[in-house]
Amino acid sequence: MGKVYLIGVGPYDEGLITLKALKALEKCHVVLYDRLVNENLLNFLREDCKIFFCGKESGCHYKTQEEINDMLVKFAKEGYTVGRIKGGDPYVFGRGGEEALRLKEENIEFEVIPGITSAIAVLNYAGIPVTHRGISQSFHVFTGNSAKALTYDWRVIAKLNGTIIFLMGLENIEFIVENLLKNGIEPTRECAVISKGTSARQRVIVSRVSDIVEKVKSEKIYSPALIVIGEVINLREKLNWFESKPLFGKRVCITRPKGQSLEFKEKLLELGAEVVETYILKIKPLEENLIKNLDDLHRADYLLFTSANAVNIFFDCLIKLRYDIRKIKAVFGCIGEKTEKELVQRGIVPEIVPEQFVAEALYDKLIGRIKQNDLVIIPRSKNARPFLKEALEKKCNLIEIPIYEVEEFFSQDILLEDIDYFTFTSPSTVKAFIKNFGKDCLMSKKVVAIGPITSNELLRNGISNCVAQKYTIDGIIEKILKLEGYDV
Ligand code: SAH
Repeated sequence: MGKVYLIGVGPYDEGLITLKALKALEKCHVVLYDRLVNENLLNFLREDCKIFFCGKESGCHYKTQEEINDMLVKFAKEGYTVGRIKGGDPYVFGRGGEEALRLKEENIEFEVIPGITSAIAVLNYAGIPVTHRGISQSFHVFTGNSAKALTYDWRVIAKLNGTIIFLMGLENIEFIVENLLKNGIEPTRECAVISKGTSARQRVIVSRVSDIVEKVKSEKIYSPALIVIGEVINLREKLNWFESKPLFGKRVCITRPKGQSLEFKEKLLELGAEVVETYILKIKPLEENLIKNLDDLHRADYLLFTSANAVNIFFDCLIKLRYDIRKIKAVFGCIGEKTEKELVQRGIVPEIVPEQFVAEALYDKLIGRIKQNDLVIIPRSKNARPFLKEALEKKCNLIEIPIYEVEEFFSQDILLEDIDYFTFTSPSTVKAFIKNFGKDCLMSKKVVAIGPITSNELLRNGISNCVAQKYTIDGIIEKILKLEGYDV
């Protein structure tokens, strides 16, 4: 018998997931997720995890609650670890209780992992603290769904001094506000509607209870959205930390392989952007090729690395083979800050590091010092550009070891129309991206290339683009900030 995790993952921003939820996701063989869940979280799942979308699009029910319950039971009985991923907290209008009761009935082991509810986090990201000393001593969360069937005593709600929050209330906002006004709420009380909170598309409409309906009607507001009433809304002017971030509201697409985009992503998130990943390439180590050339390593005069991946795979493989690194007497050379950093982290300070992060620059630096009898070894990608190999072969002895291969791999359908910036960090990602998604989606978009070679590949495909001044991830970020009008 398997086990079911009911996992709350917060409202949208993937950073709001808890450590416990993350650990649970990594264990799942099967997951069922909802519409409110950020699909980036699916990247934390095991590669063999089966994924079912059972979101309830408003109006059309994709899967009924009963069907979802049945699926949880069926998979658990088949012995799988099942994850039921829910937006916010599973027990805050999330029907988590119903699912847990059904599991209990069937004697299936389960755990419910709390999540950060939108009722608190979405307000926070809009600059509104849900309580505040001297202003709001309580908060009250209501469902505004199927309003006409609600059995609230509206007189009680209208009298509450604390922060009043309605989830699922956008469609019924007229009915809700009418009832509050009829039952004596102060018409001038602050009121806000927050849509797509914690995402790049977050929008906040601030008004008074008396005219919020009109304001919502005159603007296009998309769900999910919540309604909040209370004086705490006034603090938004000062506490709006999220919308003040330089890249707030921008969706940036990273086209780098899984496992390599983390630092880039973290930096963008820090600046307030929302990150969409395509994971179009996957690294496959080819250790057997290094093993074949293992006895040549101690003879090498120069060992060159042109990517951080090559460094990682090279040393991981040597560790596995218990190869004594002191046998290598070569001078190390590399291109790229990241590559250099990876070497330094392993106690090796490369001697040859060109200022420009391209193979041509490395060649220029080498050419003055290598002799005809020298042996140069380059462990690198099987798909690497032939330039370095072809140029060096004429000057010295050369062994190229293809120690990894870059495979194409797409993990999800992404909404390309909604992206503000596409970023490319190598010609191979450009090729792979275009092969999968076509060129059209890039045509009228802002595209930023890490360097001239990537840029040329884009141009060859008719895609105009901007090139980072520094050929690094930071260079791309600086370029985006510049395009957004910041002085960097
Ligand atoms: N369990 C969830 C709530 C589920 S009900 C939680 O704890 O947050 C769904 C409602 O939550 C939506 O109709 C909306 O009112 C609110 N909601 C969820 N995510 C939201 C978001 N990102 N922005 C605004 N409202 C959100």
